[in-house]
Amino acid sequence: MSSNVRVRFAPSPTGYLHIGGARTALFNWLFARYNKGVFLLRIEDTDQQRSTEEATQAILDSMKWLGLDWDEGPYFQSQRLAIYKQYAEKLIEQGKAFYDTDAEGRKAIRFKMQDGITEINDLIHGTITFDASLIEDFVILKADGFPTYNFACVVDDADMGITHIIRGDDHISNTPKQIALYKAFGFKMPEFAHIPMILGEDGSRLSKRHGATSVTEYRDRGYLPHALVNFLALLGWSPGNDQEIISITEMIEKFTLKRVNKTSAQFNNIKLDWMNGQYIKSTPVEQLTIDTKRFFEKSGIDMTNIPQAWLTNLVMLYHERFKTFQDLLDQTRFLFTDAIEYDRAAVDKFLKKEGVVELLKEVYSAISLVDNFDKKNMEDSLRALTVKIDVSFSRLAQPLRVSITGKSVSAGIFETMELLGKEKALKRLGYTIQNLCEISETIKL
Ligand code: GLU
Repeated sequence: MSSNVRVRFAPSPTGYLHIGGARTALFNWLFARYNKGVFLLRIEDTDQQRSTEEATQAILDSMKWLGLDWDEGPYFQSQRLAIYKQYAEKLIEQGKAFYDTDAEGRKAIRFKMQDGITEINDLIHGTITFDASLIEDFVILKADGFPTYNFACVVDDADMGITHIIRGDDHISNTPKQIALYKAFGFKMPEFAHIPMILGEDGSRLSKRHGATSVTEYRDRGYLPHALVNFLALLGWSPGNDQEIISITEMIEKFTLKRVNKTSAQFNNIKLDWMNGQYIKSTPVEQLTIDTKRFFEKSGIDMTNIPQAWLTNLVMLYHERFKTFQDLLDQTRFLFTDAIEYDRAAVDKFLKKEGVVELLKEVYSAISLVDNFDKKNMEDSLRALTVKIDVSFSRLAQPLRVSITGKSVSAGIFETMELLGKEKALKRLGYTIQNLCEISETIKL
């Protein structure tokens, strides 16, 4: 059964979809889905200087990527100018607005603000009162025929039958003007729910300075949309317990405005990465393989000669170890190039030590003799070597890892060498042995 709940997301297309905007869109979407109502999308493109088609497209793409499907729209305010004009003239006729002519003779329309105390019964913040006498008579229709934000917003919200206005609390200060317009028109008053803003980790308002702030940036860095949605949902809302991983179906079942906090939410990149890692762990390898291929290709890795089975092995090997596709690429780039990027600290700690060259030479000989170059055979051969030359396994494994990958941390070294193949693995090891004294950061083999 459908309810009469109608909500909207009304972005201004002046830039990419910001994390805060995406969270507003998500809360509206969840509210609509919970109530079996309607979620509509309205593009507020009345600022001709700042609105761009590119930004509109980026907003639509981001919403689709996040899975926030809209039931109506997108409506474009720039295509509704006749409607605003008609409503503004109605107010003139009723004596509730007046023409304001500037020095060049151009006529704007101003709304006559009524004095008195305005109350907002906000579903999140409770009652907020404003002294309307402090608000001047404001322009509703500019001389160029474009409406101002407050006016277009009210006309549209009323015309589109919006029942609940859920938006960022940076709009609280606009609400008294909007309420005055509702009253002047005699429109049915919607409910208001202003959601607290998102702060960066340092407690100041989330901005570029804190790193990625647009949805597209997260997409391009290889985050999963469901993980981002889950993370955004918990920025200011909670399901009523400390559950962190929540499916979309469950969010829809549990989403009420009562559970939205009054206080601002804090963005935490470490938590987002952790969450994305959890989603990656629960995504099937087949799907991850497809996503990895796409992501690596987009990042400029030549995938034409990479066999599917090989890529699947790579994904399986790293499945528990990567948090985003960018992270996977950073961890595995060495498998796709002939260069070794040595990590200086790893080299100093594990390679530039007495006896290491001799040890690696032994490893080289042992591994050269392994015919079937798989994990088990390599491991057997090196275990035998540790007995023969009487060293611990880790004394072999760490220098070997740095020689092959350049780093002190990697997935299992034998699985990694198996992925590289015998020829490339030996080439890397041989190179390190020969050049141990003068290893610098990156070496092209
Ligand atoms: N276009 C406004 C914005 O992007 C919409 C505010 C509202 O939801 O009323 O901030």
